[in-house]
Amino acid sequence: MSLEQQRYTHQYLLNNEWKDSESGDVVEIKSPDDNASVGSVPAMSQNEVDAAVESASDVQENWASKDGHVRSELLHRWAEELEKMTDEIGMSIHKEVGKTLSSAKSEVKRTAELIRHTAEEGLRTHGSFIQGDAFPGASRSTKAMVQKVPHGVVLAIAPFNYPVNLAASKIAPALITGNTVVFKPATQGAISGILMVEALVKAGLPKGVLNIVTGRGSVIGDFVVTHPKIDMITFTGGTGTGKNIAKKASMIPVVLELGGKDPAIVLEDADLDLSAKEIVGGAFSYSGQRCTAIKRVMATTAVADELTEKIKELVNNMKVGKSTEGADIIPMIDQKSADYVTSLVEDAVNKGATVVTSGEHQDNLLSPVVLDHVTEDMRVAWEEQFGPVLPIMRVENELEAIDLEKRNEYGLQASIFTKNLENAFTIADRLNVGTVQVNGKTSRGPDHFPFLGVKNSGQGVQGIGRSIDSMLRDKVLVLNL
Ligand code: NAP
Repeated sequence: MSLEQQRYTHQYLLNNEWKDSESGDVVEIKSPDDNASVGSVPAMSQNEVDAAVESASDVQENWASKDGHVRSELLHRWAEELEKMTDEIGMSIHKEVGKTLSSAKSEVKRTAELIRHTAEEGLRTHGSFIQGDAFPGASRSTKAMVQKVPHGVVLAIAPFNYPVNLAASKIAPALITGNTVVFKPATQGAISGILMVEALVKAGLPKGVLNIVTGRGSVIGDFVVTHPKIDMITFTGGTGTGKNIAKKASMIPVVLELGGKDPAIVLEDADLDLSAKEIVGGAFSYSGQRCTAIKRVMATTAVADELTEKIKELVNNMKVGKSTEGADIIPMIDQKSADYVTSLVEDAVNKGATVVTSGEHQDNLLSPVVLDHVTEDMRVAWEEQFGPVLPIMRVENELEAIDLEKRNEYGLQASIFTKNLENAFTIADRLNVGTVQVNGKTSRGPDHFPFLGVKNSGQGVQGIGRSIDSMLRDKVLVLNL
């Protein structure tokens, strides 16, 4: 059977054994392209989830006691095994979350590089040594050894849109630092996540160091999040889900990468060809289903007409179709998400937005929509669309853009397009976001850059070095000599 025809029936992993749920219940996974069944994963019971956490907890001390270079070597082997499975995993990402095959394979390759870099960077973590006498009244003979130690069991919860990359970016830093992992993939994306773990097992994963839990987040989510043996949570997904997790998981560290409403601010002196190209790429790749997609344009009135024309031309050249056809705009992950996006467009049009580009919508396949003259009373000016829609808002000048952005409830990234770098720095200083891009689209990476969101876009910092830091805590040993 060719990879394309393969239907996947996957099991979950406990102590390096692949298992079905005792109940026999499964969650069916359907292709966003044509709603055909791609395969299934076990719908685990709470008892089974409990066993996964307990086993990760049982072996954690032993895993943490291994030499750092031993953990690093496991990650290097994992990267190698993962690369060998590029075709297979690429195909499953392609089928399961509807990405084109080439971008699905790129995700696997990028992930192998991320794991390698983490394996290297993790060798360079170290603590510090503090003399007591720096503080008045403390003795010189008192000294503190500050060690970096793992939290214990890390719960890693990944989203559907990068089911391999955004899972490994949590698992690799957790493992290199001596934590064990309970991995909960997004249901849509679980098959790819499981295949990625198969590579880790082939690489020599010790028993229990990573266990998988599968099943609907809404069913097993609260149970695993509040499990007393989970010591840290790292999550990527929607803001609502993330906030709910943060509330429930009291007294343990929680790192959250959440939604965004990233603006592209285009000033009068911007290179408009470059701006249009970056904006269209940023807004529409993977049909806008990226946290860092450009989700609203703030165009200064002097250039807004010309910019909109250029955006229109580029968008009209995009191919709309199935991911199997290598289209630029592909079906959204499910009908519910497509309906939500459509409701935002309808609301804007009813309130007077101009439709610059539109086309046929068929079920969850939406043609790219560019809306001009979007105003503040329209929902699409503020809500995260997570789909192929680009609202253009017109602003008099950068002050108006800054004011609009300050009222954004999200704070992931922002782009500024201008030839005046001094002006770009001044505006960047005033934007309350995790990252500002100058003359480039909003995007994550390279993967070793810090990556963070403020306000409703997240908590804590990711990016290889920072993710490693987030997996460690201080432990202080005071010597009284
Ligand atoms: P989601 O619906 O919030 O799901 C994310 C993960 O949470 C999935 O694994 C999901 O499992 C799980 N989950 C759902 N309910 C849960 C609960 N009660 N307890 C524990 N886990 C639960 O998000 P998504 O649709 O996969 O991803 C889209 C969102 O993620 C967008 O808002 C996007 O902006 C954001 N995102 C942010 C970043 C970033 O880096 N800032 C990156 C990518 C995506 P099930 O699939 O089983 O429901």
